Amino acid sequence: MSGIDTLPPLREVIAAHGLSARKSLGQNFLLDLNLTAKIARSAGDLTGCDILEIGPGPGGLTRGLLAEGARRVVAVEKDARCLPALAEIAAAYPGRLEVLNADALDLDWAAHLRTPVKIVANLPYNVGTELLVRWLTPPVWPPLWGSLTLMFQREVADRIVARPGGKAYGRLAVLAQWRCDARVVMGLPPEAFTPPPKVSSAVVHLTALPQPRYPADPDVLQRVVAKAFNQRRKMLRAALRGLVPDIEARILAAGLRPTDRAEQVPIEGFCALARQIAAD
Ligand code: SAM
Repeated sequence: MSGIDTLPPLREVIAAHGLSARKSLGQNFLLDLNLTAKIARSAGDLTGCDILEIGPGPGGLTRGLLAEGARRVVAVEKDARCLPALAEIAAAYPGRLEVLNADALDLDWAAHLRTPVKIVANLPYNVGTELLVRWLTPPVWPPLWGSLTLMFQREVADRIVARPGGKAYGRLAVLAQWRCDARVVMGLPPEAFTPPPKVSSAVVHLTALPQPRYPADPDVLQRVVAKAFNQRRKMLRAALRGLVPDIEARILAAGLRPTDRAEQVPIEGFCALARQIAAD
């Protein structure tokens, strides 16, 4: 027994199922169930919610989510070696854990969930940013999920919550904060994981706003922001050259200075510029 449930401790689970960590799958496991329960709690009240978990591995966070009262957990794991360990958890929580042996990048997860939905994951670092960008850019807003509680490398977490004026501020900050409240809720040292990664990690909690903070067409905003930060050291008028013929006039009409650099422009400014560009 291991504290939060009657299942064996994770070290025993890993040994019993031969789950040696594979670097190619970003496998850095959390074995402290008090810690995984704490991460689950940082997602807020889970009762009455379906949870999408990407990469359950041996199931430490999965057990935290179930013990904290999630209505159902849908866990998507690419590594088939983890399935027997996850089946033991499913048996201990009848009807509450569905395990999908799939690549999260290929899966139509919405079909498996009922609202309200929260996404909680200790993400594989190699696909974490790609998944976040997909979740932040659904075809319609508000999205199916109400919140995202995600583990990232500390440097990525800092980029998600960054404010204008610094090096960390970029496309990820604008995408995340335009339609979400985003904050870092927990920092974790490398030793919290087995095996320890080279860098520190942090949990970011994002709550979807009912509507964007400032009006803008999502596709135009994304194009403007991607181009502006692609050459972030250049002034806006140079970085955005070619986007539309009269870009300098649009920058001025948006209340920005053509000599500003992207990292000085607040989200409101990018939205004003996207509106000017979409106004044809
Ligand atoms: N959640 C577990 C924990 O906290 O201990 C494991 C986290 S580990 C950082 C990432 C997990 O994601 C691994 O179990 C790995 O096999 C899985 N994974 C990697 N790439 C994946 C993908 N594309 N789709 C689904 N799972 C993936």
